[in-house]
Amino acid sequence: MSVANQLYRLQEIDLAIESSEQTLSQIASQLGESKTVVRAQTELTLENQRLEELRHQQRSTEWEIDDLVANLAVAEKKLYSGEIRNPKELANLQHEIEGLRARRSQVEDGVLAIMEQVETATASVASRGSELETLEAERRNQQQQLSKDMEQVKTKLADLNHKRQLLLTRIDTQAVEVYNGLRRQKGTAVAKVEQGMCCGCRISLPINELQRARSDSLVRCSSCGRVLFLA
Ligand SMILES: [Zn+2]
Repeated sequence: MSVANQLYRLQEIDLAIESSEQTLSQIASQLGESKTVVRAQTELTLENQRLEELRHQQRSTEWEIDDLVANLAVAEKKLYSGEIRNPKELANLQHEIEGLRARRSQVEDGVLAIMEQVETATASVASRGSELETLEAERRNQQQQLSKDMEQVKTKLADLNHKRQLLLTRIDTQAVEVYNGLRRQKGTAVAKVEQGMCCGCRISLPINELQRARSDSLVRCSSCGRVLFLA
């Protein structure tokens, strides 16, 4: 195999390594926490807190109703017992009872409104919960697939690196140095020659350059400096 052919193979391996490394970093950036899942978790937590607060409000309002009912019963019992004869006291008691009744009906309306809110919040917690479950399941599948892909790419990379090492032991070290310098400068170090033209710079090569490129020696394009490779 000519030196140019060896370098061309080395370049193919290096380009494949580059692309695999890019794939790896893309996969790595997709692994880990998902913003969508985190947002859904936060929303569910907030909705649960709201539901808890509403239930607490409901309970304390219900206790208030219990107290009002008990107080009313005591006051009404007193009123109908006939114990109180003093008109002013009677009027006061009646006034107290009216006040308690008004407050009870007000608080009862309030508790109904709270119960409606509890119902809405309960439904919202349930739907957000199942939405989150779906999102998490999707995410798990996606992460599993990404991990599998990552393993495959890593295996491929190890294989490519192994091939590279093997190939390097067979290539002349000076040629490798030229190759490395050109790779750093131009990205591609070796250019194919097609129809008498350097594929690196698209310039037609002089006949003598073409002839030299056909030999085993390392010939570089007089225009772009890349190593010429005739397939
Ligand atoms: Zn060229």
